[in-house]
Amino acid sequence: MAHPKSRISKQRKRKRRTHYKAETPHVVICRSCGNPVQRHRICDACGSYRGRTIINKAEDIEVEDIDNTIDDVKVED
Ligand SMILES: [Zn+2]
Repeated sequence: MAHPKSRISKQRKRKRRTHYKAETPHVVICRSCGNPVQRHRICDACGSYRGRTIINKAEDIEVEDIDNTIDDVKVED
């Protein structure tokens, strides 16, 4: 099996690892609603991508409102 010829010192290892770091996500402003969105992703708030509606968020919200109206919720106590 492949085997390292010599031990890598703590200093050498740590110097190499100074270049390993998490990249910050690329954030842009949504063309339709102005919310911050990750690049090349559909907007979470309005469901549009490059100015076109991909997921109709307005329909989803209407359906949720019908199912979860305050009058239907019963408090058990
Ligand atoms: Zn949006």
